[in-house]
Parts: sequence; C-alpha cells; structure tokens
Amino acid sequence: MAKKILVVEDEKKLVAIVRGYLEQAGFAVVTASDGQEALTVFRHEKPALVLLDLNLPKMDGLDVCRALRKESNVPVIMLTARVEEADRLVGLELGADDYIVKPFSPREVVARVRAVLRRTEGESAKPEVLTAGDLTVDLGKHSVQVHDRAVELTPTEFDLLAVMMQNPGRAFTRLQLLDQVQGQAFEGYERTVDAHIKNLRQKIEPDPKNPRHVLTVFGVGYKFTEAA
Ligand code: CA
Repeated sequence: MAKKILVVEDEKKLVAIVRGYLEQAGFAVVTASDGQEALTVFRHEKPALVLLDLNLPKMDGLDVCRALRKESNVPVIMLTARVEEADRLVGLELGADDYIVKPFSPREVVARVRAVLRRTEGESAKPEVLTAGDLTVDLGKHSVQVHDRAVELTPTEFDLLAVMMQNPGRAFTRLQLLDQVQGQAFEGYERTVDAHIKNLRQKIEPDPKNPRHVLTVFGVGYKFTEAA
C-alpha cells in the first residue's frame, strides 16, 4: 500500500509540484493549506510523514509541529525559506526530524522523504515479541516457544499464528487468513487452512483437542485468544 504523505503548505503551485513528484515516486498525498486544517487532516488521514511549511496562515508551522508532537511520533520535515531558522527547527524542543530550505528541488523533497522514512522505520522496526500465557512468539527471530521449549513451525503455521496473535480476539475467516499469509486467497483452498490450524494446535496447544489459544469460531473461522 502506498505510504501517505501530508503536505502542509499555502502556496498552491508549490503543493501541486510537490504532490506530482511524490505521487510519481509512489506515495499517496493529502494536503492542507493552513495550520488548523493540517491538524484536522492529520487526525483523519494518519499519514506516514508530514511535510510542514514554517510560514502558514492561522497557525504557524512551529505551533503545528508542537501540536503534532503532543499526539504523535509521526516523522516531520519542515520547509522553510529562512536559512538561519533551519538548524533551530530540528532542535529538541520542536522535535522535527529534518528540514528543507526553500527554494528546493522537488527531487530533493522526494529523497528527503525517503531518507527520513527509512530512518524512522528502522528505529521502530525492533523485533516484536508476542506472548500469551506460556506461548512466546518472536516475530524478529521467527521463533516460537511453549513453556520455554522451542517449537518448530512451518512458515505457513508461523504466519497464521502471528497474524491471529497480533489481533487477539478478532475472528478471521479462512479466506482472510489465506490472504494474510499468502498475499492472496483462492476459494476452494479454504480447507487447507483447517489442516494448517490442526497442525499448529498439535504443536502449541497442551491439549490440541481442547485448544486454549487458537479457537474455532463456528460459522466464521478462527481466532486467537490470550486467555491461558
Ligand atoms: Ca507558506
């Protein structure tokens, strides 16, 4: 799915140019033309990154950045015409991740957006460890333990477990599970999910006939429950 970038800038021509380049680079773009609109659009659209002009009507870029920081760690790149301001912008107090000085080339904007996304995603991409009762799944190491004992799962079994465990309590249909683990779902293959779930239960459930974690939801499919 295309990453969404929020461009906050009141110069319409500039917005159109930046939007064009970002879209060409594969991003989805939403825009706001003043500071207040920026916060509204941000809350609705939940963009992956905000390109924020310093000089805006109603609420300037500094205040918008402060407001964003109160509610989110979204990466922010400030746009400024004031070179002497630039270093201050990325200061601790404000929490912007980078800045671009006007006039800039749209290519530079695309390159900076990519660089900041790479950097901030690298920070947040710590291997995640999921636990439920005696069950521990390390998404980074691709390992599973039951009672501190390592359990070998097939890649499909692992993916099924991880998807359900990341959404505890949510009932998945077999087609949804196939789609999640294979990136595509084929009708008629739904029953293969049952076979994988059966094998998965044999490996992680103390009593596979009375599963405590991977439960059948009659008429729907399966769900993961944390209750042990
Ligand atoms: Ca402006």
